[in-house]
Amino acid sequence: MTDLLLRACLLPGRSRLCDVAIADGRIADLTPHEPGIQTSARQRIEVEGRVVTPGLVDAHIHLDKALLSERLTAGAESALEAIRMVGEAKGRFTADDIRQRASRVLDLAIAAGTTAMRVHVEVDPIVGLMGMETMLALKAEYAPAIDLHLCALAQEGILQAPGTEGLLRRALQMGADAIGGVPYNDRNADDHIDIVFALALAFNVDVDFHIDFFDEPEHLHIRKVIERTERTGWRGRVAVGHLSEAAALPAVEQKELAEDLAKAGIGVISLPATDLYLMGRHDETNPPRGLTPIRRLLAADVPVALATNNVRNPFTTVGTADLADMAFLAAVAAHMGTPQDLRALVDCLTIHPARILRLPDYGLAPGCRADLVVWDCERVEDIVAAQPFRPWVIKNGRITVEHQRRLRPHWRTGAPPVG
Ligand SMILES: [Zn+2]
Repeated sequence: MTDLLLRACLLPGRSRLCDVAIADGRIADLTPHEPGIQTSARQRIEVEGRVVTPGLVDAHIHLDKALLSERLTAGAESALEAIRMVGEAKGRFTADDIRQRASRVLDLAIAAGTTAMRVHVEVDPIVGLMGMETMLALKAEYAPAIDLHLCALAQEGILQAPGTEGLLRRALQMGADAIGGVPYNDRNADDHIDIVFALALAFNVDVDFHIDFFDEPEHLHIRKVIERTERTGWRGRVAVGHLSEAAALPAVEQKELAEDLAKAGIGVISLPATDLYLMGRHDETNPPRGLTPIRRLLAADVPVALATNNVRNPFTTVGTADLADMAFLAAVAAHMGTPQDLRALVDCLTIHPARILRLPDYGLAPGCRADLVVWDCERVEDIVAAQPFRPWVIKNGRITVEHQRRLRPHWRTGAPPVG
């Protein structure tokens, strides 16, 4: 028996409308839509030709330091200044404060169609394991709507913040799904990278670095990460966020780097809101965009995710936690505007981040988990171009969000009703 039937769906890559049958939390069957024929199901949604994609996957977000803007008066002029400002604010965090801000962002993301995310959780002598404990509780609370993958992050460095390595071990013992490093914010980037890989191997978890987060190619720690990935055999289990320095390399070097990343199976997570906001502040005229070279990476078959990173804090003072915003920014900033480009950007919100997070059974084939989004548009590229609302979001075969929108253009139709 079908639990839920989505009638007349436009699926990416298919020209004919399909009915999607869901049973036991999974896609049971995809059949060509036949108007007038009614298949039995416990519950049905008349999708009426709208686009249906798999659930959005946010491969990189910080919930513990989200929504701090209202308590800060000054803005940050650089990534390092933003780290310092958040470090000060972090000293005053309480578990309840973290939980409340994180919940607000999760509610926004779920309503926008995100069904899985990798959450970077700061673990350091300032906040200890408070963020980790809070996120583990939220992971259980939000499980019916979203899968939270927790990445224990050494945002304050490891060598320059004594005690961090021990705390990272404790976070991994508590159940962190991945280990995250920030080599540019430490005394010795190479040693930092080595410690992160050693922990990943010891606990058998994936690795995710905040890397090369500047607009001049002055660090290029990515080269060390590629070498370590190959040496440890962690191919397919390493991701890097930002990689904005790569955009400042000559084209030929960008191409070589992209090929090396593809060979090492490293996924790249572009964070356009933060990177466009913080990069290029030292150039009075024609500031560089400072954006990951998305197009070159995709051309080399590197999985590229577009992700949120920060929501309203010194790193990015704006944000809605809606991943479609990130694709919109990338379309403009990376000059990716053709219908084909826009569809490729949708893959950067779905298929690519799912691959980077190694989500099992992700996609639109029979047998896949029924994590789905219905978009109020009839062309896949309009997900990026037109930012449509999402009338239904489905997680594990259950409707988690229903969004109705009623627009009444009274100026055309007459005076608004009184009372
Ligand atoms: Zn980040």
